[in-house]
Amino acid sequence: MPTSAGCDDAAEGVSRSAAVVGLPFDLSEIVDNLHRERYPGDGHAQKRGILSSRAVQRAYYAVRPWLGVPVRKHLQRAFLRNWERLRFPQWPVDTTVEELLERVLWLCMAARKIERVPFVWFWPERASGCAMVTHDVETKAGLELVPEIIEIDNAFGIKSSFQLIPNGAYTVSPQLLESIRARGCEVGIQDLSHDGNLFDDHDRFRRRAATINRLAREYGASGFRAGRLYRNTDWYGELDVAYDMSVPNVGHLEAQRGGCCTVFPYFVGEVLELPVTTSQDYSVFHILGDYSIDHWKRQIALIFEKHGLASFIVHPDYSMKGRALEAYKQLLGHLAELRSQRMVWTALPQDVNRWWRERSQMRVTRRNGVDEIAGPGRDAASVAYASMNGDRLSYVV
Ligand SMILES: [Zn+2]
Repeated sequence: MPTSAGCDDAAEGVSRSAAVVGLPFDLSEIVDNLHRERYPGDGHAQKRGILSSRAVQRAYYAVRPWLGVPVRKHLQRAFLRNWERLRFPQWPVDTTVEELLERVLWLCMAARKIERVPFVWFWPERASGCAMVTHDVETKAGLELVPEIIEIDNAFGIKSSFQLIPNGAYTVSPQLLESIRARGCEVGIQDLSHDGNLFDDHDRFRRRAATINRLAREYGASGFRAGRLYRNTDWYGELDVAYDMSVPNVGHLEAQRGGCCTVFPYFVGEVLELPVTTSQDYSVFHILGDYSIDHWKRQIALIFEKHGLASFIVHPDYSMKGRALEAYKQLLGHLAELRSQRMVWTALPQDVNRWWRERSQMRVTRRNGVDEIAGPGRDAASVAYASMNGDRLSYVV
């Protein structure tokens, strides 16, 4: 990977002749490997010592409900120590996939002397980027704060999605689902029992996936997120959901590290992955110790530089009071400002899913010398052009 990887610069092996660009690698395979987190781990990832063993993690999660935040914070910092030294994926946002695709398109355009290339713009109504707010409800106390957080989101004109745990610490009733939807919000499934073992054993996963699929139909939910962002995308074929939201862009602060290195949705077979592209509230407040929104703002700026998807996880369980709540309101204010000033689309995951699926079916066609878009949902779509701007690409919508 030519950018942030810190490994051999494959760009040196690219040959550029009159009309052909020969790449020393299979581009779609490389992109797929990044999306699926199939790359060698950083040395530090393997050297986290005793705290990284699954047995210790399991023991930790078993007692976690009884540990106060100060104790958990201490243990988590020990578990995550030296995370700043991880070089790949790149902190705080990794855009290796975007850099790679842009570079290859640039090389093709240069080789064929093409001035500009039309494509379907990333988002509907010419939006410059997309922001998505989701809330994972972990406890009964968190559930009780759902109406309040809906109220707060509403005050900033933002509709959010709530990920509920079917076999967790609270009961998911039809009334609960209805009360969330009645406010224009979305309901998604979070894990099954949230015990941290969802991906431990393939046979058990198959059985659990069957239950998740049945409950998703029962709830009318089209999206899934695993507890603590644990994942194994090789098994996603067994999930009968439209989209998943369990893969971080860069997972340095997550229990399972790695990251998909992109700020755009992508398909894993039939499942659309809407990656988690910003740090979770818990990490920002309790690991980074940052109650300003500077870290989030930095991530948002990097994501929107690429016109990507900025997705957030904020827990009613621990961000509905004090400094955390103040910071969360500032974040909402910042998103509302970006919506009005920079035409950022604030959307529910189900809407992002619908749009991205439609967009994947659209094509730019040329009729009477004019470029237009064919395919479902094209009314909201716009033709954009990529053109060479020095050694980079720039886009015009
Ligand atoms: Zn959770």
